[in-house]
Amino acid sequence: MTFLEQGAQELSQSALPGDPRRYLLSEVTAEDYRRTVAEGAERVAAKIAKVDRPATGISVAALEPEIRGIDLERPLSDSAAALDELERIYLRDAVYFHHPRYLAHLNCPIVIPALLGETVLSSINSSLDTWDQSVGGTLIERRLIDWTTDRIGFGSDADGVFTSGGTQSNLQAMLVAREDTLRRVRLQPGETEPDIAILPKLRIFASENSHFSVIKAARMLGLGDGAVIAVASDAERRMQPLALQQELAHCLADGLIPMAVVATAGTTDFGSIDPLPEIANLCERYGVWMHVDAAYGCGLLVSRRRHKLDGIEYANSVTVDFHKSFFQPVSSSALLVADGTTLGYVTYHADYLNPKHSAKTGAPNQVDKSIQTTRRFDALKLWLTLRIMGADAVGELFDEVIDRAYDAWLMLQSDSRFEVVTEPELSTLVFRYIPWEGASPELCDRANLHARSALFASGEAMVAGTKVDGHHYLKFTLLNPRTTLHDIATVLDLLAAHAAELADAYELSGSRAS
Ligand SMILES: *Cc1c(COP(=O)(O)O)cnc(C)c1O
Repeated sequence: MTFLEQGAQELSQSALPGDPRRYLLSEVTAEDYRRTVAEGAERVAAKIAKVDRPATGISVAALEPEIRGIDLERPLSDSAAALDELERIYLRDAVYFHHPRYLAHLNCPIVIPALLGETVLSSINSSLDTWDQSVGGTLIERRLIDWTTDRIGFGSDADGVFTSGGTQSNLQAMLVAREDTLRRVRLQPGETEPDIAILPKLRIFASENSHFSVIKAARMLGLGDGAVIAVASDAERRMQPLALQQELAHCLADGLIPMAVVATAGTTDFGSIDPLPEIANLCERYGVWMHVDAAYGCGLLVSRRRHKLDGIEYANSVTVDFHKSFFQPVSSSALLVADGTTLGYVTYHADYLNPKHSAKTGAPNQVDKSIQTTRRFDALKLWLTLRIMGADAVGELFDEVIDRAYDAWLMLQSDSRFEVVTEPELSTLVFRYIPWEGASPELCDRANLHARSALFASGEAMVAGTKVDGHHYLKFTLLNPRTTLHDIATVLDLLAAHAAELADAYELSGSRAS
């Protein structure tokens, strides 16, 4: 047998049933791959075509035994059977973000070009840590980083890296800010190595409406929760520059060291955007790192409302979440920095991966800029999105939900059953049901909590909840351009009915008791 014939025989054997090699994606199984992936897409398409509510409202107690009852020691050896099973334990009761009455969290419906990217990137499985694991992919990611920094308005020194999400982007931003601060503020003149003894003195300033990932980052960076100073917001839930200035002055007066100011461009609850130019001025004056958390608001970069982000170009670092307002599947996020050399704070050369000499030959190893090692080629999803539909189309989708939020706000304002907290800056609305004039705060809280959970249990729609000044509120996060004002009116009626039901029962039992 010739060498080639022997190879051919081995290949045909590996496609035999019983040989685990038939599950490996290879030249022998390419047809299987095509069929299996199509089978999965077919199930999802069939499901999506007939989903008529965002959720079924199934309880943990009802679903848990189904999953626990599956014997993982007995494989089905058949994708159709596994998909049938999956229908029962997942697809049937999943929460469908594409449904127009899904109004809960910052989950977007996703665009098909990005899903095409998802299929390609996970099939090729490039890893974006080193050039020799990602040839081509690294350059595509770099182009998208440059594209994003251009949109932000950073100069030619800018750089960045894709991350798993806003939480990781914020963590890396705080890491870079910490290292930068440690190097700028040396206790002893002439010292070259940063002195970690000053870590307990570092302070981060973020508005009281900022994302909790800032506090988590402080914890992981050895600073502790107390290092994050909550700066007061105004009635529109935007950081007050005067309050920031006072906090910065206090910090210095107490002998502490301002490490970073985190401005939020699109707070999670209110979509409010902190006053970026004023914050930039203060950061400049006090010599503090300015980070803009635009995890939610980044879609403005491609919208006709780009001006809402004016001042973002003065930041030292920016977090964007493409998986929020760019309609990308999870995960797709990036950290961008104005001065690319600052990403070097996470560089470490390992002989087995990215040796120093490879850096000298100019191999573009993205691991030198990332806190991850093996890393998905998430950038491909955004690439195909921009190449197929284009940035303006993405911006139009985001603009549409912002328009819708404004119309919904007008509607809520004229609806005496509800009280709404602020006019939306982006696409969220925080509001609550008021059973009747003079209803006790406790009754209001209970009615709104009940309305949310009863609505979820019905599966008819999903809304989020939050607290404002210690009281329970409801929240719409609009990210679906297909959600109509009629959908929103329907959900308000459903919420009101559930809330009224509880309020009436409460009133009855209250009067019986008295
Ligand atoms: C969602 C969000 C984050 C966290 O992003 P993940 O992608 O969920 O990790 C951070 N900041 C803000 C303002 C957010 O809305």
